[in-house]
Amino acid sequence: MSKIAVIGGGVAGSTAALSIANSGLDVTLFEQKNRLISGPPFCHLHAGGNLYREIDDNQCRELLRQSIEFAKLYPFCVDKRATIITIPTNDPDNPKRLLDRLNMLRDEYASLVAKDDSNKVLGEVDNYFEVFECSEVEKLSKLEPNKNPKSAKDWVVAASKIIDKDAIKYPLIVVNEYGLNMFRLSSAMKEILNSYQNIKLHLDTKIESISKNGSGFIVRYGNKEEYFDYIINAAGFRTGEIDDMLGIKANRLVEFKAAYTAKWEDRGISNDIKLPEIIFHGQRGTPQGMAQFTPYCGGYIQLHGMRKDITLFEDGLASSQKDSSMPKLPKKFIDMIDKGWQQKDIEIRTKRAIEYMSNFIPSFKSAKVGGKPLFGAQQIPGDDITLRVAEASFPLNRYARCEIVKVSSVTDMSRAILDDLKRFGLLNEDKELDFNMATKYAPDKKELDKLAKINAKMGGYPEDMGLVCFDKEVNRC
Ligand SMILES: Cc1cc2nc3c(=O)[nH]c(=O)nc-3n(C[C@H](O)[C@H](O)[C@H](O)COP(=O)(O)OP(=O)(O)OC[C@H]3O[C@@H](n4cnc5c(N)ncnc54)[C@H](O)[C@@H]3O)c2cc1C
Repeated sequence: MSKIAVIGGGVAGSTAALSIANSGLDVTLFEQKNRLISGPPFCHLHAGGNLYREIDDNQCRELLRQSIEFAKLYPFCVDKRATIITIPTNDPDNPKRLLDRLNMLRDEYASLVAKDDSNKVLGEVDNYFEVFECSEVEKLSKLEPNKNPKSAKDWVVAASKIIDKDAIKYPLIVVNEYGLNMFRLSSAMKEILNSYQNIKLHLDTKIESISKNGSGFIVRYGNKEEYFDYIINAAGFRTGEIDDMLGIKANRLVEFKAAYTAKWEDRGISNDIKLPEIIFHGQRGTPQGMAQFTPYCGGYIQLHGMRKDITLFEDGLASSQKDSSMPKLPKKFIDMIDKGWQQKDIEIRTKRAIEYMSNFIPSFKSAKVGGKPLFGAQQIPGDDITLRVAEASFPLNRYARCEIVKVSSVTDMSRAILDDLKRFGLLNEDKELDFNMATKYAPDKKELDKLAKINAKMGGYPEDMGLVCFDKEVNRC
C-alpha cells in the first residue's frame, strides 16, 4: 500500500487528507499545532466574489462554482445570512456598474442549478440578488424588523435601522453571499478525520526536514524519520519552507492581515434584531478601504477595514526571493502569528476599526473591544495580489503543493491531487469527488454547537462565535 503524507492541517491539508482517505488510500496528516484549522481565519464564502470589485468575471464565476461546492461539502459551517453591498458616497464607483456582473452571476448560478439540482445551496436562483432604490429603503426603514429575516426586504429593514442612509449611493444590493464559521469546521474536521481508519492524524508534530529517497521521500519529525511515496505540502503561508527543504523554486506572495472582534450591545435598536453582513466598498489600501461588518452570535461583530492601519499592515506584504521560495515577513508579524498580539495593539487597532465602521453605522461608536483579532498570513501564488482563485501545483514528481487563496478552492484542489496520484499509479479508481465524505461523519448540530464553542474558547475567542446565526432549519442565535 502506498504511503502519502500531508504536511499542514488547515482547510487545504485536512480536505486533501479527507478526499484521499475517502478514495481508499492510507494517508498521514502532520500538523505542528494542537488543533486543525486554526490558521488564518475565514468568515465569507465569497459565492460570486462580490466583495472584490477588482477581479475579472472569470474569477467571479469560479468563486461562485467553487463556493457552491464548498457549501455542499461542509454545510454545517455555513451561516446563511445575506450580504448587503453598498457603495459609499465618497467612492468614485457607481453601484449600477456592479449589476452587469451580478446578472452574469445569476445566469451562471441558474446554469449550475440546471446541471445539478444539488447546486441550489444559495436559495432560489431568482433571489440570488435584489436591488433597492433609495425611496424603497426609506419606506422599508419605517417597518418593524422581522426577528427571523427570510427575504431580502427583511434584511434591508434590519440594516436600514443602523446604517447612515446618506452615506451610501443607491441602489443598494442584497446578495446571497453567505458566511462561514471556521470554529465549526475546525471542530467537525477533527471528528471527521478521526472517523477514517486509514487516516493517521499527528497533531503537535512539526516536519523538520524532507529529502528525496528513490522515487519517494524521507520525512523527519521529532526524533523519527519515515518514508512516504507522495508528499502534499499544505503548509499555508509556510509552503515556501517545505519547498526550500527540497530545493524547489516558487514565486509567491504572503500577506499578513487581521480582522477585529467587537462586542456591540448598546445598539439603539433591540439586540434581538438579526443583522446581515454589510459591505461598504472602497479602494484597497487607501484611507477609504472597504469596510466589512460581519455579525456573529452573542452580539459579536467581526470588522475588516481594508486600510493599512486596520486590516492591512505597512510591510505586511512579502514576496519570495531568488534564493528562497519562502517570502520573508518582518519578524514582528511572525511573532504575532506564533506568540500572539500585545494587548495594546489589540486595543488600538480594534478601536480604529470601530471608529471607521461608525462612519457608516453611527450607533456603532458604542461598540467595545470584544476579544482577540482574527488574523494570519495568506499565501498568493505568483505575483498578482488580486488573485483569488488558485488550487494546487505539482513542481516535482509525487509532490503536490496546495496554494489556495480562498477556502472554497479546496474541492478543485483535491480533484487535482487525486488526478496526480492516478498519474503515478498510486490511485486506480476514477470516481467523482464524493460530497458526502465529510457530512457522513460530522457531529450532529447539538454536538457541533458544543464542540465549536469549546473550539472558539480554546483559540481565545468568545464561545458564542462558534455558533451560526442562520442555518436551514432554525434560527440559532
Ligand atoms: C484576515 C484574513 C481573513 C480571511 N478571510 C477569508 C474569508 O472570509 N474567506 C476565505 O475563503 N478565505 C479567507 N482568508 C483566507 C483563508 O484564511 C486561507 O485561504 C486559508 O485559511 C488557507 O488554508 P490553508 O490550509 O492553505 O493554510 P493554513 O490554515 O495556514 O494551514 C497550514 C497549516 O500548516 C501547518 N504547518 C506549517 N508548517 C508546518 C510544518 N513544518 N509541519 C507541520 N505543520 C505545519 C500550520 O500550523 C497550519 O496549521 C482570510 C485570510 C486572512 C488572513
